Amino acid sequence: MRFRYALHSETPVRLTKPAGTDVLDYLSVSLAEFDRIREVRFSEFSSLFHTFCPSEHPVDDRHFENDVRLMGPLLVASGAETAPFLIAYEHGSQVPDAFLAYDLAPDRTATLRAVKGNYYDGQIVGPDRPFGTPWFQIAGIDGDEDTLAAAYREYVLTYLTPNAESRKPYIFYNTWNFQERNRWWYKNAYLDSMNEERMLQEIDVAHRMGIDVFVLDTGWYEKTGDWHVSAARFPRGLGPIKEKLDGYGMKLGLWFNPTVAAVSSRMHREHRDCLMTRDNKPHDPHEVWETEASQSLCLVSRYGDAFADELIRLVREVGVTYFKWDAIGQYGCDAAGHGHGTEANTPEERRVCYGFQLGAAMARVVDKLCAACPEAIVDFDITEGGRTVGLQFLASGKYFLINNGPYNHDFQMPVPADGNVNLFFYPGPARAWICRAPLGYDKWLPSVLFLTHYLPDDVYTRHGWGGNKEVTDPENQWISIASLVLGQNGIWGDLLRITDAGVARFGHALGLYKQVRDDITVASPVRVGAVGGSPEVHEKINAANGRGVVCLFASASGSYTYVTENRVAPGVWHNDGVTVTHDPRGRARIDARFDTAGAKIVFFGVREGM
Ligand SMILES: [Zn+2]
Repeated sequence: MRFRYALHSETPVRLTKPAGTDVLDYLSVSLAEFDRIREVRFSEFSSLFHTFCPSEHPVDDRHFENDVRLMGPLLVASGAETAPFLIAYEHGSQVPDAFLAYDLAPDRTATLRAVKGNYYDGQIVGPDRPFGTPWFQIAGIDGDEDTLAAAYREYVLTYLTPNAESRKPYIFYNTWNFQERNRWWYKNAYLDSMNEERMLQEIDVAHRMGIDVFVLDTGWYEKTGDWHVSAARFPRGLGPIKEKLDGYGMKLGLWFNPTVAAVSSRMHREHRDCLMTRDNKPHDPHEVWETEASQSLCLVSRYGDAFADELIRLVREVGVTYFKWDAIGQYGCDAAGHGHGTEANTPEERRVCYGFQLGAAMARVVDKLCAACPEAIVDFDITEGGRTVGLQFLASGKYFLINNGPYNHDFQMPVPADGNVNLFFYPGPARAWICRAPLGYDKWLPSVLFLTHYLPDDVYTRHGWGGNKEVTDPENQWISIASLVLGQNGIWGDLLRITDAGVARFGHALGLYKQVRDDITVASPVRVGAVGGSPEVHEKINAANGRGVVCLFASASGSYTYVTENRVAPGVWHNDGVTVTHDPRGRARIDARFDTAGAKIVFFGVREGM
């Protein structure tokens, strides 16, 4: 069950904070009859992987007896005599920066409370101004915890949002990695490759590789705020690009920073009252990726609605359906008059209230866009910490999870001579370890909601004890394909440098993947072995029909055996070095021989030549 409250009053009344903090209990539940309780967090930021990762924490008597506060957002409880149960709230912020939390008490109750910013002191509730709370979720099921996790996962996939396109396993390509290579490896500008000629060439290759959505990252626009196509980089507009994509049945995606508008833009001129402030002063204008200087606008203010209209215009005029939203921090505005506090509140209170309301403001934009244009998908970039991560945004869109993973300074390493601090920027097994590390989300939240890009190179430099060596080799491609088919569904890199054989290899494998990707999307994960270990196995098979995939990764050469948990469908395809047999119960026994570090893929339920 998903529910929220609206507080109404026939005469205007004020919400207050007598002791300076929020006083609001949303719900309370007794967990006395459950002997196994866990807190599931979705917004811990791991510096090891430089990404958000899920984590589970046992809760027992010592926590209740010491009045411990848990951020959640999900508590799951089960017992020998009791069916499993969960409660959750829909909001978003990085652990431990809680806006809501569960307070435990010695009588084994858990009370979900407002922690900060849920309202501002003096906020009016009146006949035409109800106070609305975040959404809450409660679920119970016959079965065990795994049954509950699988049902919850299905709920998030199928029922949490009306914006159904966000749940489909499209395969994405994004131009950003090549823009970074251009900057760091070839000493050009980030935007040098952002032009019609290069994009048309890339689209041809992307089509042959099996890409569904082609995303132009930053630089396609003239200036922020007024998101018109750059006349310098695309003199004919995006028409020729859209036409080519249409010819291939592909979709167009574009990059946005929703919180900025160029100083000379119409959006800026018409929304001066919406400028974000810090200490009551607007932020200084700053250049946005080699384009005109911009200032920050507040999505909680009336500007949010205007930004939604701008996106709807772009759907209609340019044909974009995928929107990548970048660079939205949790905090940023302490202005009065935007709906997150008045002159009567302190700047600090308005700042915190903005942080609380930001996620709902973002969701309003997405929901307005998707109501007008049901084909739209919005992806919120959470590749850095301090972003509003949790269940709230997933009720409207999806996440863009990882850029390049850790930087040099995450590992206390000096900045290299070329200034490029991206450590996991190179083809080979390591980037894929980083990107697969957060796949633990897939137990509760479908992996299709965490777009991550793998590198498709088959011509690259291999770095090792013997020095640097140029290689032409399919292994990096197999690692990337075996990783992305687990649901993250993205690639980026230098498409024009991939060999014809490499392009064909990718296209063939993704063609097989497309036959079973809907099954993989609905499948709960079975995972054995640590990321980077030997072997690391991911089974994603639809229990209802046996269709899906098993991917095995190994860092050490040798032979490994895996027996599937699920029965498998006929129609097996695998890459080299794999033998598949079936046991009497219909499960698959996979024997895989690795001559080097790499990946094996076994699809079930596919046919060649479809
Ligand atoms: Zn504001």
